[in-house]
Amino acid sequence: MPAQPPASHFIDGVFHEDVEGATFESLYPATGQVIARLHAATPAVIEMAVAAATRGQAEWTALPGAERGKVLRRAAAIMRERNRELSELETLDTGKPIAETLVADAASGADCLDYFAALAADLRGDHIDLGGSFAYTRREPLGVCVGIGAWNYPIQIASWKAAPALACGNAMIFKPSETTPLSALRLAEILMEAGLPKGVFNVVQGAGAVGAALVSHPGIAKVSVTGSVATGARVMQAASAGITPVTLELGGKSPLIVFADADLDAAVSGAILGNFYSAGQICSNGTRVFVERSVRGAFVDKLRARVARIRLGDPMAETTDMGPLVSRAQMERVLAYLRLGREEGAVLECGGAAAEVPGFPNGCFVQPTVFTGVADEMRIAREEIFGPVMSVFDFDTEEEVIARANATEFGLAAGVFTRDIQRGHRVVAKLKAGTCWINAYNLTPVEMPFGGAKRSGIGRENGRAAIEHYSQVKSVYVEMGKAEAPY
Ligand code: NDP
Repeated sequence: MPAQPPASHFIDGVFHEDVEGATFESLYPATGQVIARLHAATPAVIEMAVAAATRGQAEWTALPGAERGKVLRRAAAIMRERNRELSELETLDTGKPIAETLVADAASGADCLDYFAALAADLRGDHIDLGGSFAYTRREPLGVCVGIGAWNYPIQIASWKAAPALACGNAMIFKPSETTPLSALRLAEILMEAGLPKGVFNVVQGAGAVGAALVSHPGIAKVSVTGSVATGARVMQAASAGITPVTLELGGKSPLIVFADADLDAAVSGAILGNFYSAGQICSNGTRVFVERSVRGAFVDKLRARVARIRLGDPMAETTDMGPLVSRAQMERVLAYLRLGREEGAVLECGGAAAEVPGFPNGCFVQPTVFTGVADEMRIAREEIFGPVMSVFDFDTEEEVIARANATEFGLAAGVFTRDIQRGHRVVAKLKAGTCWINAYNLTPVEMPFGGAKRSGIGRENGRAAIEHYSQVKSVYVEMGKAEAPY
């Protein structure tokens, strides 16, 4: 098996196995080949991870922030040195083309480690003058944090959670998605090599039940999960018993609005990036593309021509633009939505079925698909599909499109293409979404906070905002006179 790790879990600085745990396999979605066989964590493994993380956190938090930052910076450098090898592993585990994983996965993880390395050295509180006496605040870690990942950006998600958590002096137990369990183990090895004390970053494997056991563990101080709304709700409910704070990065059905005055070629690029990168398996995708009626025909013509050029193929070939979906189950889910779109009366402009890719008869490939004539109430317009499926809508006025863009339970992201600078800012201010782009789509530099409004989540990852979610403020009142009591 080409990607078999030495053992399933990484605890207290070393690989750890417990064959009592249920066996599961990781498959290469382009071929169906088993690339690794692992065991889910047993209750004993979870206890071991919590104990190791508790010990590790005490040691780690005693270091000055600048020293913690040095470790994270070294880890970023190692990740960059191993980018090719990490990218190949991510391509095997997710099926995403190597052309993407080389630039978007471990690379963004390294950027994130670097960014929070710098912030680690700059964690600070306030001084509050009380006229003689004073108070100050300390920014303190939370303790042992749990990170739970989705399968679309495995090493990026692990890094986006680990970097701010560790920068603040916490320890982390990370549970990757059962579908993509491998790269988080590499991140753990890299962090150890960079000098992280043992126990500070641990990886335990398993499905939702392992995640649920971690969330309810009394030794846990914080949970951050990337996943679906249903999972987010379950995690929040379980965390409520311990009043455990949660960061939830959940799903979306985001609007991308194209006004008639926009640079149409740029808008088409935004729509393509926001629907077909990673075969559409991106939470912030702008899957509801609203195009002002007067340019709708021209926009769709350009779109069809560009989509026809997308090259599906061998994910390991650098010339391939789009690989398979992550699993057969995800492919079936997406194909069911393609059938549903036709049944609901949407017009199929291109795609609409599974794709045949020579040499990959068992691959989970789906054609990039565009529907027009989509009505707001259709299920393909309301539900997250998480595949290469774009819906195009017409609109006539700014007021109308804002109302329709906001008429969703989700609020993860939104985009606006226009050459009118005032309109761009005016519209974005009215969109109920956590992350917005003007004349761009799906760019998520680590400096910019990322997260959702409404049912798309709570809290923010990246940017200085993430520090708020992995630390707590302690207020200290200092009496400079003599303490007095009224009786
Ligand atoms: P899931 O919600 O199915 O799973 C997310 C993670 O939670 C997995 O590791 C899963 O384990 C685990 N899990 C499942 N049930 C529980 C539970 N009760 N308690 C604790 N953990 C649990 O999402 P997917 O992995 O299918 O990912 C796709 C979803 O993720 C989409 O909705 C997408 O929008 C969202 N997403 C959001 C992003 C964001 O930043 N906002 C980014 C990427 C994806 P396992 O899968 O191993 O069973």
